Amino acid sequence: MDREEILYWLREEDEKRLEALWEWANTVRKEEVGDEVHLRGLIEISNHCVRQCGYCGLRCGHQNLERYRMDEEEILSCVGDAVKYGYGTVVLQSGEDYGIEAEWFANVISRIKGETQLAVTLSLGERLDEDLEIWRRAGADRYLLRFETSDPDLYRFIHPSLSGKPSDRLALLQTLKKLGYEIGSGVMIGLPGQTYKSLVEDIELFGKLDLDMIGVGPYLAHPATPLGRGEWKRTIPEEDQVPNTEQMTYKVMALARIVCPEANIPSTTALATVNREQGRELGLMRGANVVMPNLTPMSYRAKYEIYPEKACMRELPSDCHSCLHHRIQAIGRKVGTGQGHRIGHQPFSLSLPFDREREKTKNLLNHERRY
Ligand code: SAM
Ligand code: SF4
Repeated sequence: MDREEILYWLREEDEKRLEALWEWANTVRKEEVGDEVHLRGLIEISNHCVRQCGYCGLRCGHQNLERYRMDEEEILSCVGDAVKYGYGTVVLQSGEDYGIEAEWFANVISRIKGETQLAVTLSLGERLDEDLEIWRRAGADRYLLRFETSDPDLYRFIHPSLSGKPSDRLALLQTLKKLGYEIGSGVMIGLPGQTYKSLVEDIELFGKLDLDMIGVGPYLAHPATPLGRGEWKRTIPEEDQVPNTEQMTYKVMALARIVCPEANIPSTTALATVNREQGRELGLMRGANVVMPNLTPMSYRAKYEIYPEKACMRELPSDCHSCLHHRIQAIGRKVGTGQGHRIGHQPFSLSLPFDREREKTKNLLNHERRY
């Protein structure tokens, strides 16, 4: 698919003609990744964050937000729920929180890998290469890091650098790949100042990066953020602005499926937030093959408010579990089994070229349980 065709579909508004895009994406999904919908249990382990992203309710400038960080036993208890419900993966997500100390967390990962059959996906922001390496050595399988937008000016504008160090998520994705992680990335759709041209380039970049997982969702304004309050403005011609609509999100998901046929693509919570009745199902029928039920303890859910009115805020993990099973079966799909790696992905262990590093890993695996 060339850029003209991507642009044509992004600009198409006619529901009848869009049916052809939905059908195309659904056919590619069925042929390449089949009818299974993989369930990844999401555990939001900390809402501390050092960053000041202009869009996100967890930004450190949001001072009214009560912060939490789960301890090892709390995390392991949620992991136990993932096992109980038969999920193949846990996704451990947080703000960029350096209170999640690298060695301590490596021990948590090696416990999960030692005590369960689960794949472990991390989504902890732009951590040091050493941290990413130590977690990979401890057994983490995948890492999610959205590049948010391929437009460098818009990115700098919405995602300020930290202590003068430029944020380069594309370089980090390459590091993660070299370390043997399956890599996931994606963008928000309809960011203020996002043009159609840049969204076309985002979709092309999904293909160039050869992503194993692609997560996209509508940008949702949070009133406690400068973008959400309209204080940070980037003026572009009105006709160039991408809308943050449900329909635009389906288009990007469908195009992502066509450009990256084998990728794992979630039908995201942001989509379920803009259409509570049918958002998840329509996502699954327009290219997606993954859903991420929330396993975060109820006492922390409301504090992980990246945008307001997030879907599934009040549902217990057991409710989410049965609701999602029902929704998946109702559209003629089946719940996936196993870890749900990207088809054809060949996981490799890191070679340990130096004795020193071997020693480091041994110490790590013997690390005493902190709690
Ligand atoms: N801190 C990690 C990071 O930034 O990669 C992981 C957690 S962060 C909350 C996960 C994703 O939430 C971000 O990559 C961003 O795309 C999305 N997000 C944040 N604020 C959002 C908003 N207001 N609307 C929609 N998505 C948002
Ligand atoms: Fe922090 Fe991630 Fe939110 Fe940015 S998007 S403020 S890094 S949690």
